[in-house]
Amino acid sequence: MSNADYSILNFVCLVTPAPWFLACLWSGQRVSWIPYFMKGCYMNPGEQIDGAASAIEAIRKELGKQLLILGHYYQRDEVLRHADVVGDSLELSRRAAESSAERIVFCGVHFMAESADILTGDNQTVYMPDVNAGCPMADMAPLRQVEKAWADLQARGGGWLPVVYVNSRASVKAFCGMHGGSTCTSSNAAKVFQWVFAQDKRVLFIPDEHLGTNTAHDLGLPDDAVAVYDPDSPGRSAPTEPGSEQGGLTADAIARTRVLVWPGYCHVHMFRIVDIEAARNQYPGAKVIVHPETPKAVTRLADAHGSTSQIIRYVDSQPEGSTIVVGTELHLVERMARQHQGRRVIVPLRPSVCRNMALTNEAKLLLLLEGWLAENEVRVAPELKHPARQALERMLAV
Ligand code: SF4
Repeated sequence: MSNADYSILNFVCLVTPAPWFLACLWSGQRVSWIPYFMKGCYMNPGEQIDGAASAIEAIRKELGKQLLILGHYYQRDEVLRHADVVGDSLELSRRAAESSAERIVFCGVHFMAESADILTGDNQTVYMPDVNAGCPMADMAPLRQVEKAWADLQARGGGWLPVVYVNSRASVKAFCGMHGGSTCTSSNAAKVFQWVFAQDKRVLFIPDEHLGTNTAHDLGLPDDAVAVYDPDSPGRSAPTEPGSEQGGLTADAIARTRVLVWPGYCHVHMFRIVDIEAARNQYPGAKVIVHPETPKAVTRLADAHGSTSQIIRYVDSQPEGSTIVVGTELHLVERMARQHQGRRVIVPLRPSVCRNMALTNEAKLLLLLEGWLAENEVRVAPELKHPARQALERMLAV
């Protein structure tokens, strides 16, 4: 959709939410009004600066190899057209680590820019066009809770290694590095889990419950070898199994568990069984692929699941004339739909936007490149850098 479409959608959503809701019910998209409504609220096209594109390109040309712009797949096209590298978290981490550019601009969310700062040298500075672009999932695993859970697991027998999804705070990555663990992305989670099992250890996976559970399932682990460690239990979360202790788990459950997952999630990928059913009805014969941050019950109903890069390759591999329903962030799905137009039909499983990714736009990118303000810098505390780097480097070596 164009910016004008979004403006109309904003107007409709804000002025006439009831008719909009009724229209969605009438059209059979029972709940799709929610993301549309949120999209209307959050997908503000943002500030527009006349001539921004040419001004950015002029600065890129002037700075040459001193500047590296990294763009995540979920970014707006107006941003990605200026990126030196477009990729998923793993690809962008690798490119940041290899780069010698003095200024690295990360068009993504905060944990990604932190990883870039951890992996680059002291003579390099990482910037974000909008440092407020965070990740709610990363915030679901504060260090204090992780340390408490770790102490509890050690007291109850140990034998664990932390595996921390890159979608996490630098302090949690540092914790992971200090305790011999590794980070992972959705592209290489299975390899990192196998790396842990090869050391005869068990996985404490933080913070995405669904990526951890799907990965364990993909590796053939039985359901009862995977459990959720609830840091709020006993206490705020209830009820728990009789006899359960800290984390909401009994001693028996802990003993049989090989993968313990943290109860974090990404709201963008919380697709539901009804979404798959609706897609199967609306597009008979279509293939359905979802991101592994989607709950396991839904993932099992899809034809395939995979990281962002794996989704792109899956779509490319489908025969011409086919329809593919994709369950991931809407910017990427709409871009693939445009790229495959006339050859394949690509539709979203349900329109779902990461509002944090959408905070970055072309105007903010230009303002950054013109001002290089300290408030746009992303700096990880020196004491965290070394252990966090160990965790990231273990992942890059797997
Ligand atoms: S898509 Fe989900 S995991 Fe990725 S940045 Fe947005 S909220 Fe975080």
